Amino acid sequence: MDGSGHLTLTGLFGHPVRHSRSPAMHNAAFRELGLPYVYVAFDVAPESLAAAVDSIRVLGMRGVNVTIPHKVDVMPYLDRITPEADLIGAVNTIVNENGVLIGHNTDGTGYVRSLLEESRLSLPESPVLILGAGGAARAIVTALAWQGAKEIYIANRTRQKGDELAQRIAALCSVHSVSLADIPELIKRVRLVVNTTSVGMHPNVEESPIDPALLHEGLVVSDLIYNPLETCLLREARRRGATPHGGLGMFIYQGAEAFTLWTGAEAPVEIMRQTVESILIPRR
Ligand code: NAP
Repeated sequence: MDGSGHLTLTGLFGHPVRHSRSPAMHNAAFRELGLPYVYVAFDVAPESLAAAVDSIRVLGMRGVNVTIPHKVDVMPYLDRITPEADLIGAVNTIVNENGVLIGHNTDGTGYVRSLLEESRLSLPESPVLILGAGGAARAIVTALAWQGAKEIYIANRTRQKGDELAQRIAALCSVHSVSLADIPELIKRVRLVVNTTSVGMHPNVEESPIDPALLHEGLVVSDLIYNPLETCLLREARRRGATPHGGLGMFIYQGAEAFTLWTGAEAPVEIMRQTVESILIPRR
């Protein structure tokens, strides 16, 4: 709270939101920096999305994160969309600039920041295999292409969605939609494999999106899932001498970027990470 007792409101619009770690993460960050902000999760049913967006202006909220299922549907209700969010075709952060609502997407940039910090890959020299073509894949593929990846292969269960994603970013880099049957040959030639599917997520923690026997030394294997922190895919990658990269960093950095957009301050990422880890790792 500031000296006058006022708090600036931020939050999350999703459906459901009960299990979100974002409120704990952002409120810990605001406390750490002594900022008079608060973050609240709002369960917004799809039919109430327009009214919820209007409430950002009406209540003078500084902004919100947007999560499943609203990331695409929210776009027509906003005043402006950044070029990155426009290309991705989804918004995960709204900033209220004096009544003008601007839609950003921090998922992709958050992912690439985390990947480069943890793996030290050189994107221009590292062909990439993306597993999946859903909303998260769109953000990741766009950010990878934007930040210099030269060659991207997309393998999705529903091939048509992979084709559509490849077409969407074809102007940015060399990108191909491939069939699942191509994976065994392709994986010998790429440096980075990214699981953007939900396969392996809690509670199905023993599932892997590809045959673990295909993983080999020299690969960076990245999984967007962060619950569990080490998925079956990442465990198998580690056992086979590949470099594992988990999804927690992406979650922290997409939040850190939103935090900075709202407050203008650099986010205390270590506190944010510790806060989320303390929720995900059960105390004995
Ligand atoms: P989404 O839009 O629903 O897309 C799901 C993707 O997974 C689709 O490509 C789908 O293929 C594929 N898939 C689902 N079940 C499958 C199965 N049994 N076998 C093969 N493919 C399957 O979801 P999303 O928003 O992209 O999220 C995907 C994952 O990313 C989730 O686990 C989510 O937790 C994670 N994520 C993490 C972060 C982070 O900050 N770390 C952020 C966003 C998302 P079809 O097209 O064939 O259905």
